Formats: sequence, structure tokens, C-alpha cells
Amino acid sequence: MESETLTINQKVQAAWQKRPLIISGPCSAETEEQVLSTAQRLANTGKIDVLRAGIWKPRTRPGMFEGIGTKGLPWLQKAKAITGLPLTVEVATAKQVEDALHFDIDILWIGARTTVNPFSVQEIADALKGVDVPVLIKNPINPDLELWGGAVERIARAGISQIGLIHRGFSNYGNTEYRNAPMWHLAIEMKRRNPNMLMICDPSHICGRRDILQETSQKSIDLDFDGLMIESHIDPDNAWSDAKQQITPEQVGNMLSSILWRTEDVNSEVYHAALEKLRQQINHLDDELMMILSQRMKIAENIGLYKRDNNITILQTNRWNEILERATNRGEKIGLSKDFITRYFDAVHMESINHQNKIMNA
Ligand code: PEP
Ligand code: MN
Repeated sequence: MESETLTINQKVQAAWQKRPLIISGPCSAETEEQVLSTAQRLANTGKIDVLRAGIWKPRTRPGMFEGIGTKGLPWLQKAKAITGLPLTVEVATAKQVEDALHFDIDILWIGARTTVNPFSVQEIADALKGVDVPVLIKNPINPDLELWGGAVERIARAGISQIGLIHRGFSNYGNTEYRNAPMWHLAIEMKRRNPNMLMICDPSHICGRRDILQETSQKSIDLDFDGLMIESHIDPDNAWSDAKQQITPEQVGNMLSSILWRTEDVNSEVYHAALEKLRQQINHLDDELMMILSQRMKIAENIGLYKRDNNITILQTNRWNEILERATNRGEKIGLSKDFITRYFDAVHMESINHQNKIMNA
């Protein structure tokens, strides 16, 4: 009942503050019927805060469905009038910003293919001068945090006070488990750089398929993301875009019910006491690890001296293979994955080479 009495602006503000913030709707608006029916069925779940729909679709190849265009905006307006849900659409040009605002879109989002292009982001930023509308910025398709941060800066400089981030994964070549590699460490680093900025996960574009949507959403929630953007269609298999990754509104509702939301208040006394002891143990072990690594580097420097005096190359490929094989075998026996050990030893080995290089080329 309370929501009935809120104005749409108050609803947008409430959604922006709500945790988790849930955005859902079709990849693309296709027909008025499809938009209204998706919106109504999503609203019926009682779990959706904002309705999304793509109006202009940046497609990889020409000739694919490139979005219904401006004529779909009144359908969204109608969906808002019926459900009371605030709206968000993707914008990529000044004209699209103008049209979206004209039809009362409440939140704009910048897509991954736009975030990569500073000209486009600047064009959007210029179109937003003097307008205060919340903007969500998806990561660029390539794993470049500077570019993502640059887009945030351009939009912030236009005077936009409410900016949020959407992690939708990064393009990769060839067939992998994910349509777009999540590279969670990059999202974590972006959160660290922007601690007060809303960070939402878009599992639909990360996964590109339905069967791992839930586990991917759960992972983001476990990483303290603020919400989810999930694509939903009344007839997913026959969607005009991104058919493989969309799920019905009811499936969205069920998935949201199955996610563990980890709602414990991080500032509570109990929480602190329970974790503090374990965290101290971790700090202690990290200190020890660093001491040991520093000792390892000193030995590497001694090896460097020997190699220099005897005119031997720094990199000894056979020795490096031997180290890796030994470490991955031992690691697997004590519960450390081959992937982790390989990345860890790569980093240690590079640092060793740098130390030796300094000695040999001093
Ligand atoms: C979308 O949300 O439908 C979309 C095009 O996403 P992205 O920009 O992440 O590819
Ligand atoms: Mn899509």
C-alpha cells in the first residue's frame, strides 16, 4: 500500500537506495503486448524494483534486429503507468538521451559497446548537462578499468549525481563457459576504487545461457554486489535478441527466491567478534608469506650474481618448467588448484626475473 502513495521520483530514489536493487525486463522491447505482459508478470512477482528494456540495440552485425526504436518508448510509459515500476533503457547517442527523457525514462544506462568509446560517452555526457537523471554505466567490453572509470568521470563532470556501475563481463575469443568472462577481480577492483557507488551484476550477459544464471547471481551477491539486472521475456526461446539467456518473469521470481541474500549487518558487534579473530590469523599468515617471499627474492638475487659472473641467461626454461610441475603437483595434494598455483608462480617467477635483471644489468 505504501508504494501506491509514492511519486515516481520517490520510487526511483527508494529503488536506488534499496539492497538488493533488482532490475528486470526484456533484452529488447519488441511489441506493445510483449512489453506490457512482461512488465505485468514481473510486477506480479513483487520482487522487481525497476523495469528494463532495450529500445536501441547495438548489434554485432547489420541485418539483425536493431531495436524497435523510439516508437517503443510509449509502450514503456504505459507499462510504468500500469505497474508503477520505474524504467531504465540503454542510450548511446544524444538523440537517444533526448528521446528517453522525453518519454519519462527514469534511469539511463550506458551499454558495454558504448562505454569503450570516449566520443560516445562524451556525447551522452554533453546531452545530460543540466539534467539530473540517475545513470548506470556498464563495464566496457574489454577488460580496461581506466576506460570504465573514464566513462564514470565524464558522466560525473556533466553534473550527474547518481551514478551506478553494472558488471556484465568482458568479451573473450572462442567458446568458453561464459558469453562474457566475469573476471570478478576487475569488478572487485572497480568497487574498491568507487566504494560508495552502486554496483550491480548483469548475470544475463555474463552467462549468455540460462543454466548458470543463478549460481552467477549468487556469486555476485556473495561478493557484496548491490543488486542484479536480469533479462526476462514472456517467450524466451522466441525473443528477437539474446534468446538463449532470457528467462520468464516467473523464473526470475523463483530465482530471486532461491538466492541467499547474506543480509547480516556488517557493522553488528556479533559479526565483528566472530570474524575479527579469523581475520587476524589471516593477517598473520599474510605477513609470514611476504617475509618468505622476500627471502625467496634474496636467493634469486644471489642466483642473479652467479649468472652474471658466468654469463648465463636469466630465463632457464627447463628449470621453470620443473618448478611449475613440482608446484602444481604438490599444490593439488593440499587443496590448491592448478590454475591458482600456475598464476601464483607466474607472478612470483616474474618478480624473481625482475630482481635478477636488476642485479645482472646494474
Ligand atoms: C543489454 O543489456 O541488452 C545489452 C546490450 O547489454 P551490454 O551492453 O552489456 O552488451
Ligand atoms: Mn541483451
